Amino acid sequence: MSKPIKGSVCLNHPNVAAVARCATCSKPICGECAQVHDGSTFCSKLCYDNAMRTGMMVDDVQRRKGMANFRRKIAIIINLLILAAIIYAGYHFYTRNKSKVDRKLQETKQAVQQKSSEAADTIRKSTVERESKYKRDRESALQ
Ligand SMILES: [Zn+2]
Ligand SMILES: [Zn+2]
Repeated sequence: MSKPIKGSVCLNHPNVAAVARCATCSKPICGECAQVHDGSTFCSKLCYDNAMRTGMMVDDVQRRKGMANFRRKIAIIINLLILAAIIYAGYHFYTRNKSKVDRKLQETKQAVQQKSSEAADTIRKSTVERESKYKRDRESALQ
């Protein structure tokens, strides 16, 4: 810090070589003007205050950004949990009502089979009737 900065003079004392630059405004300053706070050199109390305020703002922004990330992660986890719950509930519903669902399917299948066999019967009967009527007609025509 006491090593002079080549070619630079203190902005407050033009005859004195600068030994440091202000951490906030980069102004060259001499050893007399330099104010060391928290390991950094500043030209004035104002620059130190600004640095503190900026530092706090940066901290605050980062903290808020961190909170946003945290909240986004929580939201993703909650969504996944909801999805898992829905899948689990659906699976659970099916396993619990498996016999009921299967019986319903069986009943529907039987009903369809019955209906279709009835329909087939009707078609067969009407065909037989038509055939016998045709036969009767032919026989009566031949007579
Ligand atoms: Zn400064
Ligand atoms: Zn100075």
